[in-house]
Amino acid sequence: MRFDIITIFPDFFESTFEYGILGRARAAGLVDIATHDLRGFTHDRHRTVDDRPFGGGEGMVLKPQPIFDAAAGLNLSPKSERDRTKETVILLSAQGRPFTQALAHELSRIDRVVMICGRYEGVDERVNQLLCDREISIGDYVLSGGELAAAVIVDAVVRLLPGALGHPDSSRFESFGVEDAALDNSTGDAPPRTTHGAGGILDYPHYTRPAEFQGAEVPLILQGGNHDAIRSWRRRMALRKTLENRPDLLEKAVLSKTDQRLLDEIVEQMEQERTEAP
Ligand code: SAM
Repeated sequence: MRFDIITIFPDFFESTFEYGILGRARAAGLVDIATHDLRGFTHDRHRTVDDRPFGGGEGMVLKPQPIFDAAAGLNLSPKSERDRTKETVILLSAQGRPFTQALAHELSRIDRVVMICGRYEGVDERVNQLLCDREISIGDYVLSGGELAAAVIVDAVVRLLPGALGHPDSSRFESFGVEDAALDNSTGDAPPRTTHGAGGILDYPHYTRPAEFQGAEVPLILQGGNHDAIRSWRRRMALRKTLENRPDLLEKAVLSKTDQRLLDEIVEQMEQERTEAP
């Protein structure tokens, strides 16, 4: 897989992709990441990449020409002939479609991803219209530039590439991932997985040694050897975390009858905790 990032700050990425899983994936040749300095595609003495907005208003807008020239050097197919499953051009934008784990999976199956980082008030809309296949936002907030968003997308996508993680299941059975029931050893007497299937909801809380830290104890169930009890506790905690932090996910998640029962119990328990709170 190859990423090309068009930016006015190529140095921003210098160390960003050197660490951990990303660094190893690059060293192993799983992914190639190139940055392209937008100012290198200007034709004036000041290397101007921006201009004043039509219609007035504050701020500056990135001009289309340097971006088109930068993209021309990447040998992409024209937008109308582009096979989006092989190559895709992304405009990073607060106005874009939300970046999700599902979209990260989709991008991980594409050979070539080009990302255009905006700055200032944004990018001339004709870049979106004539060059880009997707307009993507990494969240409901405004960054000062698309570079951080590009780094977020590269990180989330590369860890999904086959061979990037120590265990291939790690990226399947985590927050937003597939359900644990999809695994053969998800029931019965096999040891519970450390990365449990979330099935569209959030992951459960994790603990390691020591068993007691600053007065807070690791739940006793996790310290015992009852695998079924551990699975059930983890599912309950994943549901509770999702209910507390991201109730919207529960509306879309496929929940079993057991999940529904656990959720009813969790709601009751939370109600009780509220009334008992001082
Ligand atoms: N005027 C724009 C607006 O209100 O939507 C904000 C422009 S922002 C200051 C400059 C650049 O940062 C954008 O062109 C985009 O590339 C990037 N950016 C800002 N927020 C982003 C987000 N949530 N996701 C992805 N990119 C973002």
